[in-house]
Amino acid sequence: MIQRGVNDEDIPELVAFARENGYQIRFIEYMDVGNSNNWVSDKMVPKGEILETIRRLFPLEEGARKEDSAPSVDYRFRDGAGNIGVIASITEPFCEGCTRARLTADGKLVLCLFSDKGFDLKHLIRRGATDADLIEAISGEWRARRDRYSEERLEAMNSGEYKPDSKKKIEMISLGG
Ligand code: SF4
Repeated sequence: MIQRGVNDEDIPELVAFARENGYQIRFIEYMDVGNSNNWVSDKMVPKGEILETIRRLFPLEEGARKEDSAPSVDYRFRDGAGNIGVIASITEPFCEGCTRARLTADGKLVLCLFSDKGFDLKHLIRRGATDADLIEAISGEWRARRDRYSEERLEAMNSGEYKPDSKKKIEMISLGG
């Protein structure tokens, strides 16, 4: 995650290293994951700025997602030396095509990375649920899912109403990244 004043100055060096060694590098806008990373919008380097920094040194083609649910938009270098990706959860949320879900170590199915709760699968399993029961339960949870946190955050930021600590969220360390 690119954080202003911490690692934004390293972008050119990181990109050069990835190009020289045949790696694909992905940048992620600094996000308000959990409630303990002291996120403030001023520390977030937006995707447009990340790309501008890279383009000054290494011209890029137009970006595209590999598929609708992919978090990263990928950009090929014009000189053919590979590509980079940028995940812009803050400035260009992609909740509409989101297929993300996490299973926590204590058996909760969490349907959004910014959620404050999960569906208790462990409880069901301990009560003897069959595979069919679990499929039905998970399908039902997914169908009822209304998560669109990043879109709501952007709306709140644009209207000046966003408060980083206004929502309780599960810490990313519990979700598995
Ligand atoms: S905020 Fe939640 S719903 Fe939106 S893309 Fe991220 S995980 Fe998916």
